[in-house]
Amino acid sequence: MIKLTKITSTIGPSCDSEEKLEAMYRAGTNMFRNNFSHDSQEFQAKKIKNIRAVSKKLGKPMAVLVDLQGPKHRIGDFKGGQLSGENKQYELKVGQKFMLDSNPEPGNETRVHMPNPEVLRSLKVGDTVLINDGKMGLKVTGKSADGSSVETVVLYGSKIWCRRAFNLPDTEVEGSVLTEKDRDDLDFGLKLDPDFVAISFVQKAEDVFEAREYIKARTNKPVQIIVKLERPQAVGDRLESIIDATDVVMVARGDLAVEMPFEKVPAVKRRMIRMCRAKNKPVIVATQMLGSMVDNLFPTRAEVSDVATAAYLLADSTMTSEETSIGQYPVETTATMGKILKATEEDILNNDLDESDGDAMTDENAKYDTIVGYAESESVAAIVSLDDTGEQTRKLSARKSYLPIVSISSTDIIANQLCLSRGVFPLVGKTYNDALKWEEVVRSGDKVAIVSGNGDKISIKVLPA
Ligand code: PEP
Repeated sequence: MIKLTKITSTIGPSCDSEEKLEAMYRAGTNMFRNNFSHDSQEFQAKKIKNIRAVSKKLGKPMAVLVDLQGPKHRIGDFKGGQLSGENKQYELKVGQKFMLDSNPEPGNETRVHMPNPEVLRSLKVGDTVLINDGKMGLKVTGKSADGSSVETVVLYGSKIWCRRAFNLPDTEVEGSVLTEKDRDDLDFGLKLDPDFVAISFVQKAEDVFEAREYIKARTNKPVQIIVKLERPQAVGDRLESIIDATDVVMVARGDLAVEMPFEKVPAVKRRMIRMCRAKNKPVIVATQMLGSMVDNLFPTRAEVSDVATAAYLLADSTMTSEETSIGQYPVETTATMGKILKATEEDILNNDLDESDGDAMTDENAKYDTIVGYAESESVAAIVSLDDTGEQTRKLSARKSYLPIVSISSTDIIANQLCLSRGVFPLVGKTYNDALKWEEVVRSGDKVAIVSGNGDKISIKVLPA
């Protein structure tokens, strides 16, 4: 049995060479994530060039993701801070007042510069400001009339120092989802021909429309958008409209677990995965999946369980972050993830566990359910999907069969994008016979179900010698 759940691996200095990238592909990576929060544009270009070279050498599609930093805000500098060459930490007391303001002077134990005026404008009395991954919490208690400063009280935590990132769980921040840096990175990144662009800190469907317009104005390739769901504003009532607007979803648990009570994240993740399945949108579960493998050769028991849960929930892809980008064991981490996914898929198959039971069915999904059920009843080795847009294949994939789907399309970008969809083995080709290129999946003499015409045509064929 071949692994059906895909792996998205973040690429960084630990694994940017062609040799390492090839080893990671062989260990189970399907999509390579280039995180523009870190590393120079030149380094991003080098990584993507190497990924494409490996893909060409092995003759296999691989997905390339440009992941934008988004409006991740940081407080300013402190006296004796980074700008002065030191990195002095300040000790605040619980209950004391602390100001956030528009004054660019270095801060001290009573105040610090807030470099983003839109944040000062958006904060309201009663909102929480979480600094340094939530290690310090401030509550807004007052605001100046001109919006140039905000008074807070320290709720918990003590140490603060310069340029710490902060999260605003209660605040709808005004302004564009694409920062100046994102626009610059996107202008640069789109020239590298990515298959996907991920946008961070999405708050509403309009953010996706805005990013799509920006991308459309710069390339005529059908680059797909991944929304990173990491703000509480995005996962409530607006979730459905955001999923409708996007192509792919990433459950970005890193920031999400700071911005909302962490104990609620598993339930939100499950809801997102189910909704994506109903809407035929691929979904990636991200962050800290095998975090301890940054410097350990073996995962913790809890991490093994977390990866397995994503496979049981029928997510399309799991993801690694620092584990592969800066960790000591990027290839071993990928292989470990692949091993856990495969063992879980075997259990799903052997024990007939079907998480999709009870899903609400649209007519369209019921049609694809019937196609997949028919293919399963004919005991075929695989479904072969003839599909130039990727849409039919994604609908087949979202039915979450144990059957692999070999998808044949005429362009590289569609084949690359389908690398992310669960159970799909894409290739560029013309006829169903080309399925034989996926020799790990089908062989001459195997019976296959050929699907084409947006699911309107299905036939059973034997692959030729
Ligand atoms: C996350 O917050 O889970 C995430 C994937 O985003 P990033 O790694 O870009 O902060």
